[in-house]
Amino acid sequence: MVEPARGHHRADGGADGGVRDLLVVGAGIIGLSVAWRALSAGLTVEVLDPTPGDGATHAAAGMLAAVTEADYGEERLAAMNRDSAALWPAFAADLEAASGLDVGLRRTGTMTVAYDADDVAESRRLARTQHRWGMDIEELTAAAARERSPLVGPVAGAFWSPSDHQVDPRSVHRALLIAVREAGGAVVRRRVSSLLTDRAGGGPRVTGAVDERGRSAAPGPSCSPPGRAHLRCWPTSRSRLPSDP
Ligand SMILES: Cc1cc2nc3c(=O)[nH]c(=O)nc-3n(C[C@H](O)[C@H](O)[C@H](O)COP(=O)(O)OP(=O)(O)OC[C@H]3O[C@@H](n4cnc5c(N)ncnc54)[C@H](O)[C@@H]3O)c2cc1C
Repeated sequence: MVEPARGHHRADGGADGGVRDLLVVGAGIIGLSVAWRALSAGLTVEVLDPTPGDGATHAAAGMLAAVTEADYGEERLAAMNRDSAALWPAFAADLEAASGLDVGLRRTGTMTVAYDADDVAESRRLARTQHRWGMDIEELTAAAARERSPLVGPVAGAFWSPSDHQVDPRSVHRALLIAVREAGGAVVRRRVSSLLTDRAGGGPRVTGAVDERGRSAAPGPSCSPPGRAHLRCWPTSRSRLPSDP
């Protein structure tokens, strides 16, 4: 856990002393994706992580299962997950082009098996809700499930989501490391030990970070890359560095 820094801190800029538009803490699949897209948008970026890729990214199964994982009461989340999953093919294609690596996107659909009659009844009930939300899910007989996937054992039934796919998170991570590097980003192997915060304008806002060596880093004073006037980086004119938390 990263705690807010105590005392007065001056932000020193990037590892090489240069000023960055964006500082990302954590080089997992999310941090690196943000870093890569920000670099593509014309920002300068530094990512801090002592062990890139050792977090949940390493453990994840890589299911892109917006339908299969949609549950009661989660209609809005499910819609967002479905929209996000639909962006994966283009994201994977961009990333493969940028890195030269295969990220293991397999558009194979996903099957959920039901082991007994209760499982079938419960899955059917959930599938009705998923249908109401406009999701693509189809009930299969046990024989149809085995035809689709011969290793399926003695089951009572199954449910098929043709639009739920999978990706290899470890390959995605390797590709992101290359893409970030190729785009000019820096992944610095240091742990962030505390955050710089600013209370100007209301509640505390994170404005930078201090790494394990005591070096503090914060984004530059403002940024608006050419042609991307809608992008604004911290700190804005409402916040100042340095500040005491
Ligand atoms: C067992 C398991 C299975 C999963 N299966 C799926 C799945 O099938 N489909 C799916 O979509 N999602 C799945 N997930 C969720 C998915 O793995 C996460 O949502 C995703 O990996 C989060 O990425 P992240 O980059 O935010 O975090 P992480 O991958 O955890 O990356 C965080 C990074 O931050 C770094 N870090 C931590 N502290 C500091 C610090 N103080 N300073 C600097 N760096 C620091 C770590 O070293 C790490 O590299 C699964 C998760 C688990 C655990």
